[in-house]
Amino acid sequence: MFTIVDAYTDEPSGLGVPPYLGTYPRYVYGAINERFGEEANYLTIDDLRLLFMHDGKAPDKEKETVTNPWIYNLTRSSEETARIIRGTKELVVIAGIQTPGKYLIARPGTLHELKRLLARIKARKVLTGPAALAGTGLIGGKHAESLPLDFFSSVDTDYLGINSYDNIREYAIKGAGIVRQIPYTIIAELETGRGCDIGKCSFCTEPLKSRLLFRDFHDVVREAGALKKAGVSHFRIGKQSCFYSYDGGNVHSIRSLLRGISALEPEVLHIDNVNPVKVVSSAGEEITKLIVSYCTPGNVAAFGVESFDSDVVRRNTLNSTPEISMRAIEAVNRFGAERGRNGMPLFLPGINFILGLIGETRRTLEINMNYLKDILGRGLLLRRINIRQVVPFPGTRLEAEAGTKFLRKNRRYYYSWRMRVRREIDYEMLKRIVPEGTILRDVRAEVYDGRRTFGRQLGTYPLTVGVNERLELGRFYDIRVIGHMLRSVTGEVVGEGSSQHEK
Ligand code: SF4
Repeated sequence: MFTIVDAYTDEPSGLGVPPYLGTYPRYVYGAINERFGEEANYLTIDDLRLLFMHDGKAPDKEKETVTNPWIYNLTRSSEETARIIRGTKELVVIAGIQTPGKYLIARPGTLHELKRLLARIKARKVLTGPAALAGTGLIGGKHAESLPLDFFSSVDTDYLGINSYDNIREYAIKGAGIVRQIPYTIIAELETGRGCDIGKCSFCTEPLKSRLLFRDFHDVVREAGALKKAGVSHFRIGKQSCFYSYDGGNVHSIRSLLRGISALEPEVLHIDNVNPVKVVSSAGEEITKLIVSYCTPGNVAAFGVESFDSDVVRRNTLNSTPEISMRAIEAVNRFGAERGRNGMPLFLPGINFILGLIGETRRTLEINMNYLKDILGRGLLLRRINIRQVVPFPGTRLEAEAGTKFLRKNRRYYYSWRMRVRREIDYEMLKRIVPEGTILRDVRAEVYDGRRTFGRQLGTYPLTVGVNERLELGRFYDIRVIGHMLRSVTGEVVGEGSSQHEK
């Protein structure tokens, strides 16, 4: 008997932390089914934590004062988990957090934690996913964890051939069946390509992992169809280095892909990563319009700007110059700023900053701040500003040339700079994006913090909404915005959402 343990993945291209279901568990499930005719079991790391660290007692979420995100994503009772583990011959562990973020309802597993949790399990243990290649760097700014090669029976990035797009064609279809074991609503991450046609950024592992390759749009649409049939209605086309670069930026393929998935009438269809340089390319405008017309509102293009300091851009061979990034921000605003039916603008840019790159100085932070002020001053909208400290992964130029040198040098400036960005930019942006009185539709209540409930719409980079009462978790509500925090809003319930309630 095969069992998959999902300790969650977060890579520069590809998210698999709940509520997002990554591609790895689905491909592995499909591969096992195709090769051995078996339906593998799916367990989350939360299931293992419940069994081994909490004596199997599942919390009553409605009664918890503060929701525990370590044991939130449970797929079954701990008796059932124990029974599965006893019968497992091969345990396939999926892990790898390479671009650590903040997760509202999940805590990904580190290799260190996995070693502890899996120690008592007798089965053959295989590690796959991004951690099998480069460890897992849960905390930005530190060196990646090294692999405990002795612990796993096998460390295999290409388990049963899950790396080959020829194999994935069928694995992905069969893999959709895994969602029948997941009792909570998920957003399925869809893969359209690997590698990067620019491929030179000093910190990035994507060019190390894969050469440039795209999936056929028919395959992706078929996969989405299989997932829809299995009960999934939320999709994020997020597993690729740049959505606009799909099939070499081929407008026909991009249209066919979006049209095909949109025809399934999903509740959510969003994208993720975008290289700003592709937005201002000759096909960029047409692709932006296609995204706006086929995707659902609240969509975000996460721009890998990384830094507005030209010197840092040059020394790290980043993909976009400050001037190009600004033009791309304007271009997406031009077509996407209109408000959609769920209360959010249709399609907005977001910005990723990375701290600790080669050549970074205190002045770099000032330059970044000035650009942000300029964006604000021009009346443009930015849905989110993501600030991360770099993880110097082995094999990258950053690791070889600088390691943590610039992080250590500049770290003392980060906190106050970050707070300025939150106060002077994020806060002002939020007031523009969702002014008081805006009604956000279908916000799912997710966690409690005392008397307050926090929830989000399902989608790519959803806004966190706080409500001053305890709402039933897992239900969807329409919420009127009544105030703004630095990166979230407060609101009051005005009605039940129209989305389906938690399975
Ligand atoms: S553009 Fe840079 S950061 Fe993005 S995938 Fe390519 S190499 Fe990586």
